[in-house]
Amino acid sequence: MSDTDNKPTLGRKPLGLKRSVEAGEVKQTFSHGRTNKVVVEVKRRKIVKPGAAPEAKEAVAPPPPAAAPAPTPAPAPAPAAKAAPAPTAPKPAAPPKTHESRQEMQARLLREAEEARLSALEEANRREEEERLRAIEEEKRRAEEKRRAEEEAAAARKAEQTAASAPAEEAAPAADSQPEAPVETAVEAKPADTAAADGEDKAAADASGTPAPAPRKFTPVARPEVKPRPDRAKKDDRKATREKTVDDRRRGGKLTVNRALNEDEGARARSLAALKRAREKERRAHFSGHQQQREKQVRDVVVPEAITVQELANRMAEKGADLVKALFKMGMMVTVNQTIDQDTAELLVEEFGHNITRVSESDIDIDTSVDVDADETLETRPPVVTIMGHVDHGKTSLLDALRGTDVVRGEAGGITQHIGAYQIKTKNGGLITFLDTPGHSAFTEMRARGANVTDIVVLVVAADDGIMPQTVEAINHTKAAGVPMIVAINKSDKPEANPQRVRERLLEHEIVVEAMSGDVQDVEVSAKTGAGLEDLIEKILLQAELLELKANPNREAEATVIEAKLDKGKGPVASVLVTRGTLKRGDILVVGTESGRVRAMIDDKGRQVKEAPPSMPVEVLGLGGVPMAGDTLTVVENEQRAREVSAYRREKATEKRTTMAPASIDTMFSALADKQNVIEFPLVVKADVQGSVEAINTALHNLSNDEIKVRILHSGVGAITESDVTLASASGAPIIGFNVRPNAKARELIERNKTRMMYYDVIYHLTEEIAKEMAGELGPERIEHVVGRAEIKEIFSAGKKDKAAGLLVLDGYIKKGIHARLTRNDVIVSKTTIASLRRFKDDVDEVRAGLECGVVLADTNDIKPGDTLEVFEVEERERTL
Ligand code: GDP
Ligand code: MG
Repeated sequence: MSDTDNKPTLGRKPLGLKRSVEAGEVKQTFSHGRTNKVVVEVKRRKIVKPGAAPEAKEAVAPPPPAAAPAPTPAPAPAPAAKAAPAPTAPKPAAPPKTHESRQEMQARLLREAEEARLSALEEANRREEEERLRAIEEEKRRAEEKRRAEEEAAAARKAEQTAASAPAEEAAPAADSQPEAPVETAVEAKPADTAAADGEDKAAADASGTPAPAPRKFTPVARPEVKPRPDRAKKDDRKATREKTVDDRRRGGKLTVNRALNEDEGARARSLAALKRAREKERRAHFSGHQQQREKQVRDVVVPEAITVQELANRMAEKGADLVKALFKMGMMVTVNQTIDQDTAELLVEEFGHNITRVSESDIDIDTSVDVDADETLETRPPVVTIMGHVDHGKTSLLDALRGTDVVRGEAGGITQHIGAYQIKTKNGGLITFLDTPGHSAFTEMRARGANVTDIVVLVVAADDGIMPQTVEAINHTKAAGVPMIVAINKSDKPEANPQRVRERLLEHEIVVEAMSGDVQDVEVSAKTGAGLEDLIEKILLQAELLELKANPNREAEATVIEAKLDKGKGPVASVLVTRGTLKRGDILVVGTESGRVRAMIDDKGRQVKEAPPSMPVEVLGLGGVPMAGDTLTVVENEQRAREVSAYRREKATEKRTTMAPASIDTMFSALADKQNVIEFPLVVKADVQGSVEAINTALHNLSNDEIKVRILHSGVGAITESDVTLASASGAPIIGFNVRPNAKARELIERNKTRMMYYDVIYHLTEEIAKEMAGELGPERIEHVVGRAEIKEIFSAGKKDKAAGLLVLDGYIKKGIHARLTRNDVIVSKTTIASLRRFKDDVDEVRAGLECGVVLADTNDIKPGDTLEVFEVEERERTL
């Protein structure tokens, strides 16, 4: 538009009614029921002097670029206003209206035909180019044609340029009321408007002026493709006609719809019906030509030790049936789904003329043990410490206390994120990574695994309790892992503490502490008072120094999964501990049977990090699935490799699972026979993290004996769902919820089916209870009656460090002092009691459903808006079976 706008149009005399200008109104309909009325003018001009035509032609052809940006109807009436004053416009509306609607239709038809033709030609052009690449002589001709095309394009461009200045020139003779002006009907505004209604800007550009500029622009490009085809005689004919029409057009001056309709009838008629035929023919030619030309591609086919015929066919890009046929000729009757060995595969690959690349399994999987970092690349890394000990000896308290000594945390006041491990910065700048350890023997596996990534074990022994079964277990694990140990004698603040006795008792387990002139460091601490913590940290650092812990930070990362879960918002997340290299955002990785890309990394303080150096624990987002705790995470070079490895591992896992099925009829019978004597104890297990699921499963399996067996129908990570309940109730199995709760729908179903639910937050209690139940010696049953449920709406601070929650009681009631459970996305965050209950400013004893109130929860400040508070009363009842 800009090139026309800067013309001095304003100074022009308005045109009188005497001028042969007819105006009409066109109603446009847009989407959403919007309509618009546009004034359209039709100008008539007389040709008196034929000699004046060539100049007029170029002057009048409206520039496509000018009409192109006319999606809004606003610019369209402008020329009308210029040419004919608005008030006068509606008067002669009636006669042109019918004429114009026909024109409009014609213009549309034209445009469509033109578009179809253009797309066909463009298609042909594309194909043509492919062909051209193969034929050099064609290439030559192409060059020649291209030159000609360029010439013509240049001509067309020139025409356009001159046309760009058209309105001024066009208007000028009109204003001069030159009687010699050629008789032309120009539909200037209307097609643009209709096209705008279609929302096709390009089409508008082609059609708005007249169809003429478009063919003129495109024919030269189109012609070369048509020409070199075999039926050249006909083509040449056609070419001749077309050239003629092109020439005519150029010579004929301004092209308008009318003119195009009258003069170009031949070309246009061809374009609709003949176009279809031509296209059809072309397609046929293309297909047959394609088949003829298709030459054999020699591929490098990667063949593992065993491959199915179908897979081999895919890799060779051959038909499965062809392979079967070939195998048949070789005397092998196989179907596409059968597996053949590498040698047979090689015969086939050669038969089909491809090259074989043999790979063995070790080529696919990543073996991290083989690439060892050179000594000079190694740099000191922080130690990874696991705290072990008997339940209630203060492991959690000690971890919390140590966390409290973190310099960084103290400074930034970061919020702790549970990612299974955390790092603290000591006063002298050193880093120590602590693994959050679960507290019970059922976590044996996890702990053993913890010991694998662990450099140092801190054995917590309560000074008032001494060596307990799990203490011994921890000692054995540590010894088995060959990890140095530091003994932390906890609860030394207690009056009944007797650290000396602990030291003596440790001798029984061949642990000679320094105080007993041995080599195992020991330290008296109190998680409660914080005494001895500095000492403990110092001893850890000293031990780390002795160990000379090193890793190469400048390589692709390798990490171990500490925990993995499926998060509602984040998808699969894994807490990993980087063992070597630096894990970066964007890294492509394989972890166990899953592959993925590091979308984001979150550290233990809940901050996003871009890089994780060795010994740093981070939560990784962007995995394809939930890996298993203990899996190794490896960064690979590309996604294809990642997929390959994960697919291979998955295949292996399936293989392993399926081979565990009874192998022979004998074993099947014995299994059947066994079944008759053995009582099965079915269970459904749901837990918050993968590690817990594993640990619970193992613990439960260990409870099985010859007479009674635990049968885990299903186990998984996440909230208890409807399908869990259905499964459980179908088998009369209780559901074990470890730190998870049923979701709303499941809750309904539980109520209806009277499914037995068993909620735990300590594995120890779980196994104990199940064991008791299995053995039939059951103590009093602790029955929880959920009496109310509330939603946290807001959080306030209460007092110096406490937080209060404003909540809405959804159902039941809330009482002061009652047990409560805080859940977030159906996962238990904390189990506490209601410390205080307030309504407005008053302390109250009870708040009923539908009311809002404020509460302070005992021992916890981890409350967020949207959390659910479940309050329950506990009843102890004698058990009946
Ligand atoms: P865990 O099961 O080993 O994780 O033990 P916890 O950390 O849960 O602690 C068990 C109990 O011991 C809690 O009630 C703590 O308050 C208490 N506790 C832990 N450490 C100390 C300590 O140093 N002194 C005293 N007096 N009590 C402690
Ligand atoms: Mg604990």
